[in-house]
Amino acid sequence: MSAHDRWELVVGLEVHVQLKTQTKIFCGCSTSFGDAPNRNTCPVCLGLPGALPVLNERAVELATRTSLALGCTVHPVSLFARKNYFYPDLPKGYQISQFDRPLATGGAIPLPGGGAVGITRVHMEEDAGKSIHDRFPGASAIDLNRAGTPLVEIVSDPDLRSASDAREYLLRLKAILEYTEVSDANMEEGSLRVDANVSVRPRGAATLGMKAEIKNMNSFSAVERAIEVEFERQVATLERGERVVSETLLWDAARNEVRPQRSKEESHDYRYFPEPDLPPLVLEAAWIEARRSDLPELPLARRERLQRAFGISEYDAGVLTASRALADYYEAAAGQLGDGKAVATWVMGEVLAWLNTSRAFIADFPIPPGELASLLELVKTGTLSRTAARKVFDVLLREPGASSRMVAEREGLVQVSDDGALVSWVDAVIAAHPDEVRRLVAGEKKLLGPLVGAVMKASGGRADPRRVSALVSERAAR
Ligand SMILES: [Zn+2]
Repeated sequence: MSAHDRWELVVGLEVHVQLKTQTKIFCGCSTSFGDAPNRNTCPVCLGLPGALPVLNERAVELATRTSLALGCTVHPVSLFARKNYFYPDLPKGYQISQFDRPLATGGAIPLPGGGAVGITRVHMEEDAGKSIHDRFPGASAIDLNRAGTPLVEIVSDPDLRSASDAREYLLRLKAILEYTEVSDANMEEGSLRVDANVSVRPRGAATLGMKAEIKNMNSFSAVERAIEVEFERQVATLERGERVVSETLLWDAARNEVRPQRSKEESHDYRYFPEPDLPPLVLEAAWIEARRSDLPELPLARRERLQRAFGISEYDAGVLTASRALADYYEAAAGQLGDGKAVATWVMGEVLAWLNTSRAFIADFPIPPGELASLLELVKTGTLSRTAARKVFDVLLREPGASSRMVAEREGLVQVSDDGALVSWVDAVIAAHPDEVRRLVAGEKKLLGPLVGAVMKASGGRADPRRVSALVSERAAR
């Protein structure tokens, strides 16, 4: 019996998402990434005495958009609070956040294979600055460019039961953020950060076990590994008869382990009280409804629509709609060709392989969707074999703007279906393989494939394989 049979993993995720605004949440400083340290600061985001915050309306709009896309109820009145704690890169000594009256509550993200993960709450807050420990020997430096950057925190219910479900939830959440254009959702630049609350309980138990919080994970696969490692650690603790203590852990990807955060950094004894410098955030029902009608088609709806429209599988539709730009590409090509399955096969095979090898996005892909459709049209009409189509595809990658038909003709790849030309290749192969031909005629049908393959090779991929197959059978028997 494995640990997973005896114990149940329970995970809730807290995701911090940087909203795509030009300026910070409470001042007019720029949010651009990678500027010289402390360049984008002012008395408000430095927390200087007397400076007053002014709420950025665009941040409210994007936070509302996020909440609605997650199916949450956006509350007509929400409140800002001060979350008091000392942290070197938190110049005010408190963070402005939302506490007991958040912007939105109660949405969900469905998981594949049924089930859904509830969204407990979505609230707005400001980001802290950044401590830099490796720049000056023996000293830490602080960059406050990020202080005051608008965030939404998306807190899930403890509904996740496996590390792979956690990863799937994050992929779906990221797709929603990308479709709605509320955030770059870029983990490398810190615009999407994940903390995981992990606990373990005996299988079948109704109450939750003691949870530990894991921070510092900087990719979705790190989240998945960290959760699995923490599950094993808690199970080992419980099976030794010890108790799991509530603590904050850091994920160390290099050592594949979680370890307690230094207690000095951990002394977060949060005290919340209402933020006296900001009025309640009041949103009119009509304004909320207008934000709802602004929402684009969301990933799940698009996945279902493409499945229905083109008869592709749920899995394929999931891959093809993982990003909005990829879905646009697929839909344009599939619509033109009128054959969604053929396009799905090529996009998920050749196109994604090229993107992976080139570490590029679909926006950088050199073959426009219309040209891919034209290429597959040539396969459909029998003008090109699949092998020849792959060669044309390779040429199109190197010669953006070229047309498939022109390349096919120039490279001599147009499929030969005319018996006059095929027969000479077929007869040459029959003459060269007398033993296989004898056995084929005697009933060893599996020898047909290699013989057809030899003819295809002799023709440089130009022979029509169906016609070749018929001709080999016919002429071998003579
Ligand atoms: Zn500022």
